[in-house]
This record gives sequence, structure tokens and C-alpha cells, in this order.
Amino acid sequence: MVIARTIQELKEARASLKGSVGFVPTMGALHQGHLSLIQRAKEENDGVVVSVFVNPTQFLEGEDLDAYPRREEADRLICERAGVDILFMPTIDQMYEKDELCIGAPAIRGYILEGEKRPGHFDGMLQIVMKLLNLTQTTRAYFGKKDAQQLALVMQMVRNYFLNVEIVPCEIVRDEKGLALSSRNAYLSSEEKERALCLSRSLKRATKMVMAGELDAQKIRSEMLEVLKEADEVEYVAIVDRAFRAIEKVEIGDTIILVAAWVGKPRLIDNIWI
Ligand code: AMP
Repeated sequence: MVIARTIQELKEARASLKGSVGFVPTMGALHQGHLSLIQRAKEENDGVVVSVFVNPTQFLEGEDLDAYPRREEADRLICERAGVDILFMPTIDQMYEKDELCIGAPAIRGYILEGEKRPGHFDGMLQIVMKLLNLTQTTRAYFGKKDAQQLALVMQMVRNYFLNVEIVPCEIVRDEKGLALSSRNAYLSSEEKERALCLSRSLKRATKMVMAGELDAQKIRSEMLEVLKEADEVEYVAIVDRAFRAIEKVEIGDTIILVAAWVGKPRLIDNIWI
């Protein structure tokens, strides 16, 4: 495995990969969720590139940029064992200059839900993903459905800017109790980890209701809020179509139910595609 820390090293290593290449962008502190994306990229391509970069422009003032877990050595071992060809771990200086040209998230879809609570987050996310896609020049790039709105916006950017890469959505990986894996779960105490299960439980409750024929979004939302009482604060429960428009009735095959809530220190998100 080549570890590239500069753009030049990345370009040289990339030029030596032949055939199709899959790319998995991450912020590191790799877990089984990231690994599932890497494994899928490995299965579907001749070569795999992974990036680990805690991107400062997608953190807002006062968010956990400095505290965000960094585990460079463990990440390197995980990638090595998974058969990754290139691990790109750049410094901030490599990725950004001062007073940059910026990409803006779309006016409506970029500023609802995650974008409403974290205004500017998606601008920074799209900016770094654009840079990484251009640098890595891969056939496919793998994104988790865990960050459903991020996935939708990356797909839109690829469409709007005619980027030559296929975006592959990947299923959410959970622990044995149902908690969606996240690098931020590292902030949870064991008591909080138990309470954090209310996010996935609320989504399970919603799925059960839909399976029993209840399609009314209001009713589903209020049941979910009951389950979410275990969280310290619920930021949103949203029932939207695949284009992220709020809907009144669940339509099977075109609905995403999303939740964001605080449990202890971290703000957690989860969702289910129905
Ligand atoms: P992050 O390091 O949190 O920026 O995540 C990097 C990529 O891994 C994103 O595409 C995430 O959606 C994806 N990811 C993170 N957690 C999970 C999970 N539990 N299951 C599937 N994909 C995930």
C-alpha cells in the first residue's frame, strides 16, 4: 500500500493503478461502516484508493473539529489489511489555499435538515469531495446511506458538474444492538450508548408501522418522537422523498425517514430508506 501525503505522491501512485479504481473518502477513525465501503470498492474494482482527511471547511465554528477522533496508525493498518492500494492522508495545506473559489450547496436541499442545523456544512463537504474526486480520478466513489443528504448532494454535484465518476450508495452498518456505527460514537459513555439506541429503535418503529399499512407521516413522526424521549434533545425527525421533499404520505420505494438527536456529547444521525 502506498501512503500518499502530498498531491504529487497521490498523482504518481494513481498513475500506476491500471483498470477500474474505486474511491472511499473518509475522515478517518475507521470502523466497520467505512470498511464495508472499502470492501465493496475492492470487490467491484481493480484498485482502491481511500482518503483520510478531517476536512476543516465542513465543521462550523464551535463544532468538534479539534476533538474529532484521529487514529492515523490504526487507520493505516485497517487499510493495509483490507488490501487498499493507495491511502491518501494529506495535510490541510496540501488541500487548501487562502481565499478559495467555493462551491455552494443547492439553495433548498442544501439548507434543510442537516443543512439547517449546520449552515455551510454542505458547502465545505462538496468543496472537499470535488477536490478529492478530481485528484483521484476514479471510476467509482463509495458513500454511505448513513449520511443520506450528503449522498444526495454529492450525486447532484456529479450530475450538475458532469463529473466522470459513478457514485455508489452503500448500506448503513450497525452494531449488534442496532446503533449505526459512527466515529462520533467514541464520545458515548456506556449509559449513553444504551440511550443512543433510541434512534434506530424509532426507525424500527416507523418501519413496523409502514409494514402494518400506516402511511401517514404525521402519525409516524409522533410515534417516533415518543421513542426518542430517551435522547437528550431531538433536532429533527423528517419524512421525505428521495429528492428530500417533505411528504405527507409514505410512498414505499421513494421515502427516507431521518432523525438527528443529541445523546450526551455527540449529535447522532440515522435514517432508513423505505
Ligand atoms: P466519515 O468518515 O464519517 O466522513 O464517513 C466516510 C464515509 O463512510 C461516508 O460516505 C459515510 O456515509 C460512510 N459511513 C460512515 N458510517 C457508516 C456506517 N455506519 N455505515 C455505512 N457507511 C458509513
